[in-house]
Amino acid sequence: MENKILGIHHVTAIAGNAKRNLDFYTQALGMRLVKKTVNFDDPNTYHFYYGNYAGEPGTILTFFPWEGISQGRRGVGQATETGFAVPEGTLDFWLKRFDDRNVIYNKPATKFGQEYLTILDPDGLKLELVGVPQDKLITPYETPGLDSNVALGGFHHITLTLTSIKPTVAVLELLGYKQVAQEVNRYRFALDGNPKAGLIDLVEAPGEARHLSGGGTVHHIAFRVKNQAAQVEFQEAIARKGFNITPVLDRNYFTSIYFREPGGVLFEIATDEPGFAVDEPLESLGEALKLPQQYEAQREQIAAQLPKL
Ligand code: ZN
Repeated sequence: MENKILGIHHVTAIAGNAKRNLDFYTQALGMRLVKKTVNFDDPNTYHFYYGNYAGEPGTILTFFPWEGISQGRRGVGQATETGFAVPEGTLDFWLKRFDDRNVIYNKPATKFGQEYLTILDPDGLKLELVGVPQDKLITPYETPGLDSNVALGGFHHITLTLTSIKPTVAVLELLGYKQVAQEVNRYRFALDGNPKAGLIDLVEAPGEARHLSGGGTVHHIAFRVKNQAAQVEFQEAIARKGFNITPVLDRNYFTSIYFREPGGVLFEIATDEPGFAVDEPLESLGEALKLPQQYEAQREQIAAQLPKL
């Protein structure tokens, strides 16, 4: 295929309280809120997008915060770990920061020769910080106390936990991924060409219970393509393999197609175009409540019943 998957575009997860989620990601982790909008399928809930300054693909973690949602559980058929790249040698800095903010973490460990730190967000979502050389980072967003020598530099890897990896491997190969490493039951996949594309780890855990969706779990992961022409090419290729894939859906900041891979994880393919500056200036991304056209007429009612931030 002439058009290629360029890497991880975004990860979308489920949270409970909106303000607690906002505070954790913008303050503890130092991400920028690049878009404050609503769930396009349920405009009574927020959809937050966090990323680097420009909200570049590969840095975007998004949340649907549903007040009072019951806690989910990690298990097979799910993206179970979301790894961020941080500069090598900064895990002690982050440990201290997490200590100061009562963030739950495990002591640093190593996989594939890289040191990493596991933390849980306030809803129990499992995140990892992995130390990598500076040239592997996507431009970090600088905030007071978190300059580019320590700040997050985009996704390092996403882990899918599966009963059996083989059918999922076939899908990853269709997207252009190749296996590059293995440790016990963890298989690491990478794309050629872009060292900042982000990795996909498959963990084969045949005995593990199925996941339960809910607070603190990943809803779906999205891969990047340049534009809609590339997206449609993948839509056709995936449909030819017998998968049910959605039509192209307009998400305002990108267009999307979705399908469920055979291991049970919801995959999306999203375009780099047009990006988050399409409906507000780059300098003030995330400040105003942005609504898709179909909800503009109900702006007042929608804004009035959204949770207080
Ligand atoms: Zn998405």
